[in-house]
Amino acid sequence: MSKIEVKPDGTLVVPHNPTIPFVTGDGVGVEITPAMQQVLNAAVEKAYGGSRKLDWMEVQAGGRAYEALGTYLPDETMQAFRDYHIGIKGPLTTPVGGGIRSLNVALRQGLDLYVCLRPVRWYSGVVSPVKHPELVDMVIFRENTEDIYAGIEWETGTPEAKKFYRFLSEEMGVKKVRFPESSSFGVKPVSREGSERLVRAACQYALSNGLPSVTLVHKGNIMKYTEGGFKRWGYEVAEREFGEAIASGKLVIKDCIADAFLQNALLKPEDYSVVATLNLNGDYVSDMLAAQVGGIGIAPGANINYATGNAIFEATHGTAPDIAGRNVVNPCSLILSGVMMLVHLGWTEAAACVEQALERSFAAGYATADLARFMPEGKALGTHEFAEHLVSEIMKAEA
Ligand code: NAD
Repeated sequence: MSKIEVKPDGTLVVPHNPTIPFVTGDGVGVEITPAMQQVLNAAVEKAYGGSRKLDWMEVQAGGRAYEALGTYLPDETMQAFRDYHIGIKGPLTTPVGGGIRSLNVALRQGLDLYVCLRPVRWYSGVVSPVKHPELVDMVIFRENTEDIYAGIEWETGTPEAKKFYRFLSEEMGVKKVRFPESSSFGVKPVSREGSERLVRAACQYALSNGLPSVTLVHKGNIMKYTEGGFKRWGYEVAEREFGEAIASGKLVIKDCIADAFLQNALLKPEDYSVVATLNLNGDYVSDMLAAQVGGIGIAPGANINYATGNAIFEATHGTAPDIAGRNVVNPCSLILSGVMMLVHLGWTEAAACVEQALERSFAAGYATADLARFMPEGKALGTHEFAEHLVSEIMKAEA
C-alpha cells in the first residue's frame, strides 16, 4: 500500500503502486466497477510492463453500505477518501426519507470537492442525435459546493417557511412573493471565493492543456448578485491571475447567458472549449452536451479540490435499476472516469491505451447494446464481454 502525497501547492506525488479507494456502487455498479478495474489494470500493465500498478482498496457507501453497516456513508469511507486523496466510485442509490438528501452531494460537500469536471468529446462510430458531434469538444467546470444545491430550503406550510417569509417581509421589506402562504423557499448562496476558485481552476486547466478559451456561463441578467457576481468575479480573477496569458492571446475569457449557451452549444459547439459555470446550470449543461455525443452511458466525471488534492472520479449516470444484473449496462462512463483518473495521476500513457482501445472498438462497431443498436455495423456485446474486448484491444496494440 502506498499513499499519494499532496504538496502544499496541491500537486500530487504519485508512487508506483498508489492505493486507490473505490466504491463498487449499487445497481449496475456491481457490473461496471469490475469492468473498469479490469480495463485500467490491463492499460497500466501494457503501458508500464509491471513497474506500476493500481492498488485497489474497497470502501463502502450507498445501499450496499446500508445493508452491511446500517449507514449510507460510513465515516471510514470519508476518511479513506481524505487520506488517500484520489478515489473512484460507481453510482449510489439515493437514500429515501430524511437525513442525507444525496450521497453524491454529501461526498462533494464533505470533502469540499468544489469542481465537478466533465469532459465531453465524441468518439467516431458512436451515433449521436446531432449532425456534427465531432464539433463538440468541451470541458465543463461545474461549481459543486454552492448555489441552490447548498440544500437550504424550507417546505411550504412548515413553521420554518412561515418564519422565513416573516423575516423576508417584515425585516427585509420584500413584497414580491406572489403566493406567500403556499410558497416553499430556497436560498442560493454564491460567493466570491467559491466563484474565484472555480474559474481559477478552469483557467489553469485551459492553459495547461493548450485550450483556447474559458466561457463563463451564467444567468446574471436575471440573478444579478449571485449569477452576475459569478460572472464579475470570474472576469476579475482571470484578469488578475492570468492577465499575461489573456494579453498575449493564449487565453480568451468570454461569457454567455445560460439559455443562449444551450442554443449555441447545439448550433455552434466549436465556439466553446472550457466552460465554467455554477452548480445548477452545470447540471443541465453537462447532461445536454453528454446527449450530443452519445448519451450518459459514456459521459465521465470527476469531483476535485485542486488545493487539498482530493478527488473522486465517478460514473455520471445512476444505478439504472431497470437493467441491473442483466450484463447489458454500458461501463464506458466509469471506464472513461478511470481514464480521467489516470491522466490526473500523470499516467497519461495508460490513459491513452484505454482511449485508443475504445476508439478502435467503436469504429469497428463493438459496443454495449445501448450504443451498438444505433451503429450501422453494430455488434452488441454484454458488459463483461465488452470489457474483455477492450482488454484484448489494449493488449494487442502496438507499444
Ligand atoms: P439512471 O441514470 O440510473 O437511469 C436512467 C436511464 O438511463 C435508465 O433507463 C437506465 O437504464 C439508463 N442508463 C443509465 N446508465 C446507463 C448505462 N451505463 N448504460 C446503459 N443505460 C444506462 O437514473 P435514474 O433511473 O433516475 O436513477 C436511478 C437511481 O440512481 C436513483 O436512486 C438515483 O437517485 C440514483 N442516481 C445516482 C447517481 C450517482 O450516484 N452519480 C446519479 C443519478 C442518479
